[in-house]
Amino acid sequence: MSLMDKSPKKYNVIIIGGGPAGLSAGIYTARARLKSLLIERGAIGGQILNTEWVENYPGFPDGVSGIDLTEAMHKQAEKFGLETLLADVTGVKLTDVQKTVETSEDSYAAQAVIIASGSERQKLGIPGEAEYTGKGVSYCATCDGAFFRDKPVAVVGGGNAAITEALELTKFASDITVIHRRDELRATKILQEKAFTEPKIKILWDSVVDEITGDTFVKKVKVSNVKTKKKSTLNVAGVFMAVGFKPNTEYLKGAIKLDKNNAIITDDKMATNVPGVFAVGDIRSGSIRQVISATGDGAVAAVNAEKYITGL
Ligand SMILES: Cc1cc2nc3c(=O)[nH]c(=O)nc-3n(C[C@H](O)[C@H](O)[C@H](O)COP(=O)(O)OP(=O)(O)OC[C@H]3O[C@@H](n4cnc5c(N)ncnc54)[C@H](O)[C@@H]3O)c2cc1C
Repeated sequence: MSLMDKSPKKYNVIIIGGGPAGLSAGIYTARARLKSLLIERGAIGGQILNTEWVENYPGFPDGVSGIDLTEAMHKQAEKFGLETLLADVTGVKLTDVQKTVETSEDSYAAQAVIIASGSERQKLGIPGEAEYTGKGVSYCATCDGAFFRDKPVAVVGGGNAAITEALELTKFASDITVIHRRDELRATKILQEKAFTEPKIKILWDSVVDEITGDTFVKKVKVSNVKTKKKSTLNVAGVFMAVGFKPNTEYLKGAIKLDKNNAIITDDKMATNVPGVFAVGDIRSGSIRQVISATGDGAVAAVNAEKYITGL
C-alpha cells in the first residue's frame, strides 16, 4: 500500500461493540480463522462491567465479577487472533459486498459485519440514582432480584418491563411498590391482571420518584403525587428502574430494519435484513438482555457470518 493509498484496511468480519455478545462472536470468528476486528468505544466488557457479581452465568457456581468474566472472554478471543480497536463507530455503508465501517479513527472494510453495540438502560436522572446504582438501585430484576430476599422494594415504571420486573421480584422481595406516573398501566392486559391479583404488589398511581436516599445502601425513596402534589417517603432496600431501553443504533442511520423501539430485527441466524450483516445481544429486538443470551447470539451470528463469507 502506498502512502497515498486511503483505501480502508480489509477484514473478513468487523464486530461493532466489545460486550459479551461481541466478544463471543470474536472468539468464534477468530477461531474459524476469519480475519476479525472488534471495535469498542468504551471499555472492553460492556455493560456487565457495571455489576460486581454475576450469579447466573453458567460455569461459576460461586459467581464471577463482570470484569473477570469479560477479561477472560477478551483474552480467549485475542488468543485466536481477534484484533481490537478502541474507537467510536460513527457510520456504516452496508449495501456493497465490501461493507465499510467508519470510526472516529479511520474507515475499515469487511465482507460481514456483526453489530453488538448493546442498549443503554434509560435513567431517570434523579438525585441518588447514580450514587446508589449497584447499592440498591438496579436496572434488572433477573440479574439482581435474589439480592433482595424478604426485603421491600420499589419498581419505577408502568409498561411491560416494569410489571414483568415486579412479577419477577415477587419470588424474592417481601413486598413490591410499583411507582407509576399515570393513573393506568401501559403494560398488556394479561400482565396487568397478574399484577392486580398478586398480593405482594401494590401500585402507587400518579406518582414520581424525586430522590433516592440511604447510607451505604438504599433506605428510602421520596415520592410526589403529580395530581395532589402530596409528598411521601417509602422505606425500601431496592429500587428497580424499568423506564425503558435505548438501543445504540444511532450510527446505523436507517441502514438496517429496526422495530418500534429502535432495536434491530433479526432472524434465527441473527441475520438482519441486509445480507452479510448480523446483530447480537441486547441490541436485538426480543433479546432477554442477559450475558448468556448475548454470548449465545454471538456464536450463532459468527457461524452464520462464516457461512455467508464462504458461501457454504
Ligand atoms: C448493572 C447491571 C447488572 C447486570 N447484571 C447481569 C447479571 O447478573 N446477569 C446477566 O446475565 N446480565 C446482567 N446484566 C445485563 C448484561 O450486562 C447485558 O445483557 C450484556 O452486557 C449484553 O451484552 P451485549 O454485548 O449485547 O451489550 P453490552 O454489554 O451493552 O456491550 C455493547 C458494547 O458496545 C459498545 N458500543 C456502543 N455503541 C458503540 C459505537 N458506536 N462504537 C463502538 N462501540 C460501541 C458499548 O460501549 C458496549 O461496550 C446487567 C446489566 C447491568 C447494567
